[in-house]
Amino acid sequence: MRAEVTIIGSGFSGSILAWILASQGRSVALVDQARHPRFAIGESSTPIADAILDRLGQKYDIPTLRNLSCWGSWQENYPALACGRKRGFSYLVHQPGEKFHEEALGDRSLLVAASPSDYRSATHWHRSSVDQFLWRQAVEHGVVDLTGHAVVGIEVSLSGPVKVVCESADPDTRGSSRFEIESDWLIDASGSSCVVSRYLPVDKKTDQLRTSTHACFGHFHQVMNWTDIVDPTPRADFENPFSADDAAQHHLIDHGWMWMLRFNQGVTSVGYTTLSHQPLPELESLKSRYPSIKAMLSEAEIVAPAGGWVRTPRLQRWFSSIPHPRCVMLPTAALTLDPLHSTGIAHALAGVDRVAERVLNGSTSESAWEQYESILSGETNLLDKMVHMAYRNVSHFERFTVACMLYFAAAIRCEETYQAGLTPSHLWNAGEEQFTDLVDWVDSVIDHADQRVISEIRRKLEPWNSAGLMDPEVNNRYAYTATK
Ligand SMILES: Cc1cc2nc3c(=O)[nH]c(=O)nc-3n(C[C@H](O)[C@H](O)[C@H](O)COP(=O)(O)OP(=O)(O)OC[C@H]3O[C@@H](n4cnc5c(N)ncnc54)[C@H](O)[C@@H]3O)c2cc1C
Repeated sequence: MRAEVTIIGSGFSGSILAWILASQGRSVALVDQARHPRFAIGESSTPIADAILDRLGQKYDIPTLRNLSCWGSWQENYPALACGRKRGFSYLVHQPGEKFHEEALGDRSLLVAASPSDYRSATHWHRSSVDQFLWRQAVEHGVVDLTGHAVVGIEVSLSGPVKVVCESADPDTRGSSRFEIESDWLIDASGSSCVVSRYLPVDKKTDQLRTSTHACFGHFHQVMNWTDIVDPTPRADFENPFSADDAAQHHLIDHGWMWMLRFNQGVTSVGYTTLSHQPLPELESLKSRYPSIKAMLSEAEIVAPAGGWVRTPRLQRWFSSIPHPRCVMLPTAALTLDPLHSTGIAHALAGVDRVAERVLNGSTSESAWEQYESILSGETNLLDKMVHMAYRNVSHFERFTVACMLYFAAAIRCEETYQAGLTPSHLWNAGEEQFTDLVDWVDSVIDHADQRVISEIRRKLEPWNSAGLMDPEVNNRYAYTATK
């Protein structure tokens, strides 16, 4: 079989890239060992991800991608496609044995807006539904569908085509079904499987990552609303910028945090992430220690994945992304970092944008791909630093908040660049040396930061702080959004 481009992985990233390339007249084979629908984790989108999706839709004249870039147009056009409304990020600190409460608003809570209205809201993607939808679109637009086939070999040479060996993933036909695809390009969109690294020599860079966490997760029915179990009475003196339920909820407990992401068909994604050297507790033990978590989950029943509550080993892995001039990994194949700041979808989509442009331009020059790898490295180093400092301080809410504020300042600056119609060279300000220097400095002082140091951090963050972050007057409620 021959195709100009072979893509391994039909998750949202591989499917969108395949669709874009097919829309530009390229022949594309999309291989996946699974068949849709299949369970996938990594569901909380962000304004950066939405801005890139919208940009891809404009650039390649694919209105569907634009429609999926915010809650309002998603609901107008695809009301049956499951997703959740994400007006922002909420952080809630729990104490063992106590119902959630605060002496003063903001003592144990932080709300950072992502979107200015329900219509413009970001979304949580019910991945099995969304990935299936995008894969189907790709196939309807001419992509050759090879789902149900696993990649079992890859061969490259300096001048010849890239050869990908596939076989049926169905145990009954596996042995008798081998075939080869020859292509000009091979794109690895296989997420954490990073299939290319099994068959081609690639540098493993995981040891350079400081973040070391593991997680457990599943999808549940009947998770209670946060606003139904805590006192929902609005405070006369301060209004929340959004409901904590229309958000990526981060419940800070023990040495980690629990996420809850509500979708609009009655399912809620629930997971817990903690440092690798801390045990991954059973859900029952978290419920018994934290009464408000117990109240939310008192009626909850796990509905996916089929095997039940998933427990992972260390999440982090990192490979150099260009094993060969015509074989490229998307950022989410080269890297898994951590769910804390919901960066995976945005990173994958930025990779789709960068790779589509280079493949469509036929760019085999070393410098173009060196630049791709160098941008990805810069972004990874910055994210790793920001995530690691947040985990180090997860049990000290004020310092944890400061660590998050660096991320939000970086994300909001990046969103503003997209909103101005430009494409930032790097996501999250990773290309701006003054900003990365600031993050290095905060990293060196944050673990012992007192009020004087925190004021100094606020002062130094000023050039990037259009959202008024770290303002002691606003009770940890931030309503500013770059999206208008
Ligand atoms: C616990 C956790 C929580 C996360 N939460 C978030 C979040 O809230 N927000 C966010 O933005 N990001 C999050 N992420 C990151 C997110 O999961 C990834 O960015 C995203 O899933 C990557 O999607 P993808 O389309 O690139 O790959 P995937 O969705 O992983 O798809 C890869 C495909 O490759 C296929 N495949 C694998 N091996 C082979 C093979 N040998 N042959 C053929 N096909 C193969 C698989 O079947 C799969 O369908 C999280 C990650 C983790 C681990």
